[in-house]
Amino acid sequence: MRPALLQQLKQIVGPEDVLTSDRDLMAYEYDATVEKFLPEAVVFASSTQEVAAVLRLTYQNKVPVVPRGAGTNLSGGTLPVKGGIVLELSRMTRVLTIDTANQRAVVEPGVINLDLQNLLAPLGFTYAPDPASQKVSTMGGNVGEDSGGPHCLKYGVTSNHIVGLEVVLPNGEVIHTGGAVEDSPGYDLTGLLVGSEGTLGVVTKITVRIIRLPETIKTLLGVYDRLEDVGQTVSDIIAAGIIPATLELLDRPVINAVEDSVQAGYPRDAAAVLLIEVDGVGDGLERQADLIVELCQKNKVREVRVAKSAAERDALWAGRRGAFGAVARVRPSYLVQDGTVPRTELAAILRKVLEISAAHNVTVGNVAHAGDGNLHPLFMYDPKDKDEARRVHEAGAEILKACVDVQGTLSGEHGIGLEKQKMMPWRFGPTEMDVMAKVKQVWDPADLLNPGKILPPEYQTAKAG
Ligand SMILES: Cc1cc2nc3c(=O)[nH]c(=O)nc-3n(C[C@H](O)[C@H](O)[C@H](O)COP(=O)(O)OP(=O)(O)OC[C@H]3O[C@@H](n4cnc5c(N)ncnc54)[C@H](O)[C@@H]3O)c2cc1C
Repeated sequence: MRPALLQQLKQIVGPEDVLTSDRDLMAYEYDATVEKFLPEAVVFASSTQEVAAVLRLTYQNKVPVVPRGAGTNLSGGTLPVKGGIVLELSRMTRVLTIDTANQRAVVEPGVINLDLQNLLAPLGFTYAPDPASQKVSTMGGNVGEDSGGPHCLKYGVTSNHIVGLEVVLPNGEVIHTGGAVEDSPGYDLTGLLVGSEGTLGVVTKITVRIIRLPETIKTLLGVYDRLEDVGQTVSDIIAAGIIPATLELLDRPVINAVEDSVQAGYPRDAAAVLLIEVDGVGDGLERQADLIVELCQKNKVREVRVAKSAAERDALWAGRRGAFGAVARVRPSYLVQDGTVPRTELAAILRKVLEISAAHNVTVGNVAHAGDGNLHPLFMYDPKDKDEARRVHEAGAEILKACVDVQGTLSGEHGIGLEKQKMMPWRFGPTEMDVMAKVKQVWDPADLLNPGKILPPEYQTAKAG
């Protein structure tokens, strides 16, 4: 990058907030995937004004910009594949407003998801989307990926909880979308921006919906000897008119990794466990839990455990929350896939995951947001073994194709990024792909904001000059 341009960036954010040494840049060349691309500089912004000034400069100089929160995305979303700068937003950590009467909060993008929940809890409120990465992932990143989490079955994903945004456009102009009230006339720009993976604008303020904490929570663990029985239990629970807050599946390989790691007390010989949580007003919740136990029993559950204290609930959750970290103990690395199928297809697709993995001779375990039909096959492998890495990627792609083939989709929550862009035409027809390419061109005609993401190369028509 030209020294004069670096000098101008330093004038905007301060000299200490522009990183250029090889050692510093190496810390930003990767995210939670295995690919690596070195940025030319990393710039830390602390305010909307700084973000706008940086983008005005990069726009004039045709420099690509990749917005970044905590860099925990699982789809290559923060990899600077076309060089340029990584724009770090993790210092924008202010919670600007909490308005419990109107059930709104306004936060900056660097606020950590769990920090917001912890701030709201003493007030009797919460922000519902809870990605398993919530201890570190940022609200800006959650918006970028339209993140989900174990409680999204009942409460919905990030897009259901974002009502307004402040956004800096690629040329440095600032716009406001949505607002504090329930509906906003005109095109739903907020909806378009949530899940846009940093390709349309840089989010600098987020107005979120906050909800009351449930009065009572009941957590259960069903232990199963057959995956099919878990799938049927999930379908039966929803068909009975119950929407639990959580229906999370972990299969045997993951159970064993979890037990080696956090000792959640899951039985090692089970084919799968189903973590079930119901919440709401105390009256009637017991009856709901009883009905769920009956449905589990109808589907040959081996045992249903009910957490009797906060400590027991935490132990059951420790296994789910620690699942990704736990499998990293089995082999040097893991690749997590993220596909979604109609809920009734869950058992069949989990069988297919095992078949495909066996055919490619790769080690796999499964975590699934079962109620949403969102599966996360976890391939445990050694990235240094090029042949094994190839087989893992091939198996992952085949699984996603199988999801699409049963009217499912390519991602439940992790986004498309770099990883799945070539698969987009499996799910969308040429006209749909064209419309998406045109949306990108309208927002970012010079293709400067997180270029090379979401759309496959043949649809990335505008080129940074
Ligand atoms: C162990 C583990 C568990 C996970 N569990 C879940 C889970 O349960 N559910 C789930 O959905 N995901 C999960 N993830 C994936 C990841 O944590 C989420 O995608 C998360 O939302 C990313 O947040 P981040 O702050 O790390 O964002 P980053 O990775 O830094 O960025 C994500 C995307 O958003 C864009 N972006 C970031 N900030 C902004 C901004 N201010 N304006 C515009 N664009 C921006 C980036 O360009 C990028 O495209 C998990 C990841 C790990 C490693």
